Amino acid sequence: MSNRRAFIKQVSLSAGALSVASLSGLAACTAEAADRKLGIALVGLGRYATGQLAPALLETRHCELRGIVTGSPDKAAKWKQQYNLSDKNIYNYDTFDQIKDNPDIDIVYVVLPNNMHAEYVIRAAEAGKDVICEKPMANTVADCERMIAACKKAGVSLNIGYRLHYEPHHLAAIDIIHKKKELGKIKLFEGGFGFRLTDKKRWRLNKEMAGGGPLMDVGIYVLQAARYLVGEEPIAVRAFEVKTEPDIFDQVEETLYWTMEFPGGAFANCSTSYAAGTHHLRVSGDKGWLYMTPCYGYASPEGKTNQYTLDIEPVNQQAAHMDGIARHLLFGDKRNNISGEEGLRDMKV
Ligand code: NAD
Repeated sequence: MSNRRAFIKQVSLSAGALSVASLSGLAACTAEAADRKLGIALVGLGRYATGQLAPALLETRHCELRGIVTGSPDKAAKWKQQYNLSDKNIYNYDTFDQIKDNPDIDIVYVVLPNNMHAEYVIRAAEAGKDVICEKPMANTVADCERMIAACKKAGVSLNIGYRLHYEPHHLAAIDIIHKKKELGKIKLFEGGFGFRLTDKKRWRLNKEMAGGGPLMDVGIYVLQAARYLVGEEPIAVRAFEVKTEPDIFDQVEETLYWTMEFPGGAFANCSTSYAAGTHHLRVSGDKGWLYMTPCYGYASPEGKTNQYTLDIEPVNQQAAHMDGIARHLLFGDKRNNISGEEGLRDMKV
Protein backbone atom coordinates (compact mmCIF):
# COMPACT_ATOMS: atom_id res chain seq x y z
CA MET A 1 0.00 0.00 0.00
CA SER A 2 1.44 3.40 -0.96
CA ASN A 3 2.01 6.02 1.71
CA ARG A 4 -0.61 8.15 0.05
CA ARG A 5 -3.13 5.34 0.08
CA ALA A 6 -2.29 4.62 3.69
CA PHE A 7 -2.81 8.29 4.49
CA ILE A 8 -6.17 8.43 2.74
CA LYS A 9 -7.30 5.24 4.45
CA GLN A 10 -6.28 6.75 7.75
CA VAL A 11 -8.21 9.91 6.94
CA SER A 12 -11.32 7.99 6.04
CA LEU A 13 -11.05 5.71 9.01
CA SER A 14 -10.56 8.53 11.46
CA ALA A 15 -13.40 10.50 9.86
CA GLY A 16 -15.65 7.47 10.07
CA ALA A 17 -14.49 6.67 13.55
CA LEU A 18 -15.35 10.17 14.70
CA SER A 19 -19.04 9.35 14.72
CA VAL A 20 -18.42 6.14 16.66
CA ALA A 21 -16.03 7.16 19.30
CA SER A 22 -16.03 10.93 19.67
CA LEU A 23 -17.70 13.04 22.31
CA SER A 24 -19.40 10.75 24.79
CA GLY A 25 -16.90 8.23 23.51
CA LEU A 26 -16.38 4.55 23.82
CA ALA A 27 -16.94 4.73 27.55
CA ALA A 28 -20.64 5.07 26.86
CA CYS A 29 -20.54 2.12 24.52
CA THR A 30 -21.41 -0.61 26.99
CA ALA A 31 -21.15 -4.22 25.94
CA GLU A 32 -24.93 -4.33 25.98
CA ALA A 33 -25.28 -1.35 23.62
CA ALA A 34 -22.56 -2.68 21.35
CA ASP A 35 -24.48 -5.93 20.89
CA ARG A 36 -27.87 -4.32 20.53
CA LYS A 37 -29.40 -3.71 17.13
CA LEU A 38 -32.06 -1.06 16.67
CA GLY A 39 -35.16 -2.16 14.77
CA ILE A 40 -36.03 -0.16 11.67
CA ALA A 41 -39.44 -0.03 9.98
CA LEU A 42 -39.42 1.15 6.37
CA VAL A 43 -42.44 3.23 5.33
CA GLY A 44 -43.01 2.98 1.57
CA LEU A 45 -41.56 0.01 -0.29
CA GLY A 46 -40.63 1.69 -3.57
CA ARG A 47 -37.42 1.66 -5.58
CA TYR A 48 -35.09 3.07 -2.94
CA ALA A 49 -36.43 0.96 -0.07
CA THR A 50 -36.46 -2.20 -2.18
CA GLY A 51 -33.28 -1.78 -4.19
CA GLN A 52 -31.01 -0.11 -1.63
CA LEU A 53 -32.23 0.15 1.96
CA ALA A 54 -33.54 -3.35 2.63
CA PRO A 55 -30.45 -5.06 1.15
CA ALA A 56 -28.21 -2.64 3.10
CA LEU A 57 -30.00 -3.56 6.32
CA LEU A 58 -28.61 -7.07 5.88
CA GLU A 59 -25.12 -5.54 6.17
CA THR A 60 -25.64 -3.15 9.08
CA ARG A 61 -24.08 -3.81 12.46
CA HIS A 62 -26.18 -1.61 14.74
CA CYS A 63 -29.64 -1.79 13.15
CA GLU A 64 -31.79 -4.23 11.20
CA LEU A 65 -35.03 -4.40 9.24
CA ARG A 66 -37.81 -5.39 11.60
CA GLY A 67 -40.94 -3.82 10.18
CA ILE A 68 -42.64 -2.46 7.07
CA VAL A 69 -45.48 -0.07 6.33
CA THR A 70 -47.06 -0.63 2.93
CA GLY A 71 -50.40 -0.15 1.21
CA SER A 72 -49.87 -3.27 -0.87
CA PRO A 73 -50.76 -6.69 0.61
CA ASP A 74 -48.73 -8.36 -2.16
CA LYS A 75 -45.59 -6.51 -1.16
CA ALA A 76 -46.28 -7.25 2.51
CA ALA A 77 -46.40 -11.01 1.80
CA LYS A 78 -43.27 -10.91 -0.34
CA TRP A 79 -41.23 -8.86 2.15
CA LYS A 80 -42.45 -10.95 5.08
CA GLN A 81 -41.01 -14.03 3.47
CA GLN A 82 -37.86 -12.44 2.03
CA TYR A 83 -36.83 -10.67 5.24
CA ASN A 84 -38.36 -13.06 7.78
CA LEU A 85 -40.61 -10.38 9.26
CA SER A 86 -43.08 -11.09 12.01
CA ASP A 87 -46.78 -10.44 11.25
CA LYS A 88 -47.10 -8.03 14.14
CA ASN A 89 -44.45 -5.78 12.55
CA ILE A 90 -46.29 -5.34 9.26
CA TYR A 91 -48.50 -2.26 8.99
CA ASN A 92 -50.51 -0.47 6.34
CA TYR A 93 -51.05 3.30 6.21
CA ASP A 94 -54.22 3.04 8.31
CA THR A 95 -52.74 0.87 11.07
CA PHE A 96 -49.38 2.73 11.06
CA ASP A 97 -50.06 4.69 14.27
CA GLN A 98 -50.30 1.43 16.25
CA ILE A 99 -46.53 1.19 15.81
CA LYS A 100 -46.31 3.20 19.05
CA ASP A 101 -47.09 0.01 20.98
CA ASN A 102 -44.42 -2.04 19.24
CA PRO A 103 -41.12 -2.26 21.15
CA ASP A 104 -39.46 -4.08 18.22
CA ILE A 105 -39.42 -0.84 16.23
CA ASP A 106 -36.99 1.85 17.35
CA ILE A 107 -36.68 3.86 14.14
CA VAL A 108 -39.27 4.69 11.47
CA TYR A 109 -37.66 5.39 8.09
CA VAL A 110 -39.94 7.41 5.76
CA VAL A 111 -39.20 6.57 2.10
CA LEU A 112 -42.37 7.98 0.52
CA PRO A 113 -42.87 10.59 -2.21
CA ASN A 114 -41.69 14.01 -1.01
CA ASN A 115 -45.14 15.49 -0.28
CA MET A 116 -45.88 12.65 2.19
CA HIS A 117 -42.72 13.09 4.29
CA ALA A 118 -44.15 15.66 6.71
CA GLU A 119 -47.28 13.65 7.58
CA TYR A 120 -45.44 10.39 8.22
CA VAL A 121 -42.53 11.96 10.11
CA ILE A 122 -44.99 13.72 12.40
CA ARG A 123 -47.04 10.54 12.91
CA ALA A 124 -43.84 8.58 13.65
CA ALA A 125 -42.77 11.22 16.20
CA GLU A 126 -46.18 11.12 17.83
CA ALA A 127 -45.76 7.34 18.09
CA GLY A 128 -42.56 8.02 20.04
CA LYS A 129 -40.19 6.61 17.42
CA ASP A 130 -36.89 8.07 16.25
CA VAL A 131 -37.17 9.03 12.61
CA ILE A 132 -35.16 8.97 9.41
CA CYS A 133 -36.75 10.97 6.59
CA GLU A 134 -35.60 10.76 3.01
CA LYS A 135 -34.38 13.81 1.15
CA PRO A 136 -35.66 16.34 0.33
CA MET A 137 -36.93 16.70 3.89
CA ALA A 138 -40.24 18.20 2.70
CA ASN A 139 -41.63 20.43 -0.02
CA THR A 140 -41.84 23.60 2.05
CA VAL A 141 -39.95 25.37 4.84
CA ALA A 142 -43.17 25.40 6.88
CA ASP A 143 -43.43 21.61 6.68
CA CYS A 144 -39.77 21.23 7.73
CA GLU A 145 -40.45 23.45 10.74
CA ARG A 146 -43.54 21.43 11.69
CA MET A 147 -41.53 18.20 11.47
CA ILE A 148 -38.72 19.56 13.65
CA ALA A 149 -41.24 20.86 16.21
CA ALA A 150 -43.09 17.50 16.34
CA CYS A 151 -39.86 15.56 16.90
CA LYS A 152 -38.69 18.02 19.58
CA LYS A 153 -42.04 17.82 21.35
CA ALA A 154 -41.95 14.02 21.29
CA GLY A 155 -38.28 13.94 22.34
CA VAL A 156 -37.25 11.84 19.34
CA SER A 157 -34.35 12.22 16.92
CA LEU A 158 -34.95 13.41 13.35
CA ASN A 159 -32.40 12.44 10.69
CA ILE A 160 -32.42 13.15 6.95
CA GLY A 161 -31.39 10.64 4.27
CA TYR A 162 -28.14 12.47 3.47
CA ARG A 163 -26.08 9.31 2.98
CA LEU A 164 -22.99 11.16 1.67
CA HIS A 165 -22.29 12.45 5.18
CA TYR A 166 -21.14 8.89 5.91
CA GLU A 167 -19.37 8.27 2.57
CA PRO A 168 -15.57 8.11 3.01
CA HIS A 169 -14.59 10.05 -0.16
CA HIS A 170 -16.81 12.95 0.91
CA LEU A 171 -15.48 12.71 4.46
CA ALA A 172 -11.92 12.70 3.07
CA ALA A 173 -12.72 15.75 0.91
CA ILE A 174 -13.98 17.61 4.00
CA ASP A 175 -10.80 16.61 5.81
CA ILE A 176 -8.51 17.64 2.93
CA ILE A 177 -10.21 21.03 2.64
CA HIS A 178 -10.97 21.98 6.23
CA LYS A 179 -8.54 20.06 8.42
CA LYS A 180 -5.47 19.67 6.21
CA LYS A 181 -6.22 22.87 4.30
CA GLU A 182 -4.48 21.37 1.25
CA LEU A 183 -6.39 23.58 -1.19
CA GLY A 184 -5.72 26.80 0.70
CA LYS A 185 -8.48 29.39 0.84
CA ILE A 186 -11.54 28.09 -1.03
CA LYS A 187 -12.48 30.28 -3.97
CA LEU A 188 -14.69 28.22 -6.28
CA PHE A 189 -17.09 25.30 -6.12
CA GLU A 190 -18.50 23.82 -9.32
CA GLY A 191 -20.92 20.92 -9.32
CA GLY A 192 -23.72 19.26 -11.23
CA PHE A 193 -26.00 16.26 -10.81
CA GLY A 194 -28.68 15.28 -13.28
CA PHE A 195 -30.09 12.38 -15.25
CA ARG A 196 -32.69 11.92 -17.95
CA LEU A 197 -36.19 11.45 -16.56
CA THR A 198 -39.09 11.87 -18.98
CA ASP A 199 -41.76 9.39 -17.83
CA LYS A 200 -44.73 11.57 -16.93
CA LYS A 201 -46.27 8.77 -14.89
CA ARG A 202 -43.51 9.18 -12.30
CA TRP A 203 -44.41 11.31 -9.26
CA ARG A 204 -41.07 13.12 -9.66
CA LEU A 205 -42.58 15.08 -12.59
CA ASN A 206 -45.67 15.98 -10.55
CA LYS A 207 -45.18 19.35 -8.88
CA GLU A 208 -47.53 18.70 -5.98
CA MET A 209 -45.86 15.43 -5.05
CA ALA A 210 -42.24 16.26 -5.82
CA GLY A 211 -42.28 19.90 -4.75
CA GLY A 212 -40.16 20.78 -7.78
CA GLY A 213 -37.94 19.22 -10.40
CA PRO A 214 -34.34 17.98 -10.37
CA LEU A 215 -33.16 20.45 -7.72
CA MET A 216 -35.45 18.87 -5.10
CA ASP A 217 -34.44 15.39 -6.20
CA VAL A 218 -30.73 15.36 -7.08
CA GLY A 219 -29.55 18.98 -7.25
CA ILE A 220 -29.92 18.94 -3.47
CA TYR A 221 -26.73 16.80 -3.35
CA VAL A 222 -24.85 19.57 -5.15
CA LEU A 223 -26.23 22.17 -2.78
CA GLN A 224 -25.24 19.96 0.16
CA ALA A 225 -21.71 19.40 -1.18
CA ALA A 226 -21.22 23.12 -1.83
CA ARG A 227 -22.28 23.89 1.74
CA TYR A 228 -20.12 21.29 3.47
CA LEU A 229 -17.09 21.68 1.20
CA VAL A 230 -17.07 25.48 1.29
CA GLY A 231 -17.96 25.15 4.96
CA GLU A 232 -20.25 28.18 5.06
CA GLU A 233 -23.87 29.08 4.45
CA PRO A 234 -24.65 30.94 1.20
CA ILE A 235 -25.63 34.60 1.49
CA ALA A 236 -26.86 35.13 -2.08
CA VAL A 237 -28.40 32.77 -4.62
CA ARG A 238 -29.22 33.36 -8.29
CA ALA A 239 -30.87 30.81 -10.56
CA PHE A 240 -32.33 30.37 -13.99
CA GLU A 241 -34.14 27.55 -15.77
CA VAL A 242 -33.61 26.14 -19.25
CA LYS A 243 -36.66 24.38 -20.72
CA THR A 244 -36.39 22.62 -24.09
CA GLU A 245 -39.14 19.99 -23.67
CA PRO A 246 -42.12 21.87 -22.23
CA ASP A 247 -44.58 19.05 -22.95
CA ILE A 248 -42.70 16.75 -20.59
CA PHE A 249 -41.69 19.31 -18.00
CA ASP A 250 -45.00 21.13 -17.81
CA GLN A 251 -45.11 21.04 -14.00
CA VAL A 252 -41.51 21.01 -12.80
CA GLU A 253 -38.23 22.52 -13.91
CA GLU A 254 -36.19 20.74 -16.58
CA THR A 255 -32.66 22.09 -16.04
CA LEU A 256 -31.59 24.63 -13.44
CA TYR A 257 -28.38 26.59 -13.18
CA TRP A 258 -27.68 28.44 -9.97
CA THR A 259 -24.88 30.33 -8.29
CA MET A 260 -24.23 30.91 -4.61
CA GLU A 261 -22.03 33.45 -2.88
CA PHE A 262 -20.52 32.64 0.49
CA PRO A 263 -19.51 35.13 3.19
CA GLY A 264 -15.80 34.22 2.95
CA GLY A 265 -15.76 35.13 -0.75
CA ALA A 266 -16.18 31.65 -2.27
CA PHE A 267 -18.48 31.34 -5.26
CA ALA A 268 -20.45 28.25 -6.35
CA ASN A 269 -21.63 27.49 -9.87
CA CYS A 270 -24.12 24.60 -9.89
CA SER A 271 -26.48 22.73 -12.18
CA THR A 272 -29.10 20.02 -12.06
CA SER A 273 -31.19 18.45 -14.80
CA TYR A 274 -33.85 15.93 -15.78
CA ALA A 275 -32.94 16.47 -19.46
CA ALA A 276 -29.48 14.92 -19.44
CA GLY A 277 -26.82 13.45 -17.20
CA THR A 278 -24.24 15.44 -15.29
CA HIS A 279 -22.32 14.21 -12.24
CA HIS A 280 -19.33 16.01 -10.74
CA LEU A 281 -17.90 18.44 -8.26
CA ARG A 282 -14.74 20.50 -8.25
CA VAL A 283 -13.47 22.66 -5.43
CA SER A 284 -10.63 25.11 -6.07
CA GLY A 285 -8.66 27.10 -3.58
CA ASP A 286 -5.69 29.43 -3.92
CA LYS A 287 -3.31 26.46 -3.43
CA GLY A 288 -4.97 23.54 -5.23
CA TRP A 289 -8.08 21.72 -6.36
CA LEU A 290 -10.11 18.58 -5.72
CA TYR A 291 -12.24 16.96 -8.42
CA MET A 292 -14.69 14.07 -8.07
CA THR A 293 -16.76 12.34 -10.76
CA PRO A 294 -18.98 10.43 -10.37
CA CYS A 295 -19.57 11.53 -6.82
CA TYR A 296 -23.22 11.59 -5.70
CA GLY A 297 -24.46 8.12 -6.69
CA TYR A 298 -24.49 4.81 -4.82
CA ALA A 299 -21.25 3.60 -6.41
CA SER A 300 -17.96 4.61 -4.89
CA PRO A 301 -16.94 8.12 -5.98
CA GLU A 302 -13.75 8.66 -7.93
CA GLY A 303 -11.62 11.66 -7.23
CA LYS A 304 -8.27 13.35 -7.29
CA THR A 305 -6.58 16.49 -6.13
CA ASN A 306 -3.90 18.48 -7.92
CA GLN A 307 -1.41 16.24 -6.07
CA TYR A 308 -2.82 12.70 -5.88
CA THR A 309 -5.67 10.33 -6.66
CA LEU A 310 -8.09 9.43 -3.87
CA ASP A 311 -7.69 5.72 -3.24
CA ILE A 312 -10.31 4.79 -0.67
CA GLU A 313 -12.11 1.52 -0.02
CA PRO A 314 -15.77 1.70 -1.07
CA VAL A 315 -18.52 1.23 1.50
CA ASN A 316 -22.19 0.37 1.27
CA GLN A 317 -23.42 3.95 1.63
CA GLN A 318 -26.88 3.07 2.89
CA ALA A 319 -25.47 0.70 5.51
CA ALA A 320 -22.95 3.33 6.63
CA HIS A 321 -25.71 5.96 6.82
CA MET A 322 -28.12 3.84 8.87
CA ASP A 323 -25.36 2.50 11.12
CA GLY A 324 -24.16 6.08 11.67
CA ILE A 325 -27.62 7.08 12.87
CA ALA A 326 -27.91 3.95 15.01
CA ARG A 327 -24.55 4.74 16.65
CA HIS A 328 -25.74 8.28 17.28
CA LEU A 329 -28.81 6.87 19.07
CA LEU A 330 -27.16 3.92 20.83
CA PHE A 331 -23.90 5.46 21.99
CA GLY A 332 -25.02 9.00 22.66
CA ASP A 333 -22.82 10.55 19.99
CA LYS A 334 -24.16 14.10 19.98
CA ARG A 335 -22.77 14.88 16.51
CA ASN A 336 -25.58 14.74 14.01
CA ASN A 337 -24.82 16.49 10.73
CA ILE A 338 -28.00 15.26 9.13
CA SER A 339 -30.58 16.58 11.55
CA GLY A 340 -33.90 18.14 10.63
CA GLU A 341 -32.23 21.54 10.98
CA GLU A 342 -29.81 20.55 8.18
CA GLY A 343 -32.72 19.54 5.93
CA LEU A 344 -34.42 22.84 6.73
CA ARG A 345 -31.30 24.83 5.77
CA ASP A 346 -31.34 23.28 2.30
CA MET A 347 -35.02 23.98 1.90
CA LYS A 348 -34.46 27.64 2.80
CA VAL A 349 -31.77 27.96 0.10
P1 NAD B 1 -40.82 5.23 -5.52
O1 NAD B 1 -41.87 5.89 -6.34
O2 NAD B 1 -40.05 4.12 -6.13
O3 NAD B 1 -41.46 4.70 -4.15
C1 NAD B 1 -42.43 5.41 -3.43
C2 NAD B 1 -43.21 4.47 -2.55
O4 NAD B 1 -44.26 5.20 -1.93
C3 NAD B 1 -43.89 3.33 -3.35
O5 NAD B 1 -43.76 2.12 -2.64
C4 NAD B 1 -45.35 3.73 -3.36
O6 NAD B 1 -46.23 2.63 -3.40
C5 NAD B 1 -45.47 4.47 -2.03
N1 NAD B 1 -46.63 5.36 -1.99
C6 NAD B 1 -47.49 5.44 -0.96
N2 NAD B 1 -48.44 6.34 -1.21
C7 NAD B 1 -48.19 6.83 -2.43
C8 NAD B 1 -48.85 7.79 -3.24
N3 NAD B 1 -49.94 8.44 -2.82
N4 NAD B 1 -48.32 8.04 -4.45
C9 NAD B 1 -47.20 7.43 -4.87
N5 NAD B 1 -46.52 6.52 -4.13
C10 NAD B 1 -47.02 6.22 -2.93
O7 NAD B 1 -39.85 6.40 -5.00
P2 NAD B 1 -38.35 6.25 -4.48
O8 NAD B 1 -37.41 6.48 -5.59
O9 NAD B 1 -38.20 5.06 -3.67
O10 NAD B 1 -38.25 7.58 -3.56
C11 NAD B 1 -38.87 7.65 -2.29
C12 NAD B 1 -38.17 8.75 -1.48
O11 NAD B 1 -36.82 8.39 -1.30
C13 NAD B 1 -38.18 10.11 -2.14
O12 NAD B 1 -38.32 11.11 -1.17
C14 NAD B 1 -36.80 10.21 -2.77
O13 NAD B 1 -36.32 11.53 -2.91
C15 NAD B 1 -35.97 9.42 -1.80
N6 NAD B 1 -34.79 8.79 -2.42
C16 NAD B 1 -33.59 8.97 -1.83
C17 NAD B 1 -32.46 8.39 -2.37
C18 NAD B 1 -31.12 8.56 -1.71
O14 NAD B 1 -30.11 8.20 -2.30
N7 NAD B 1 -31.07 9.07 -0.49
C19 NAD B 1 -32.56 7.64 -3.54
C20 NAD B 1 -33.82 7.46 -4.11
C21 NAD B 1 -34.94 8.04 -3.54
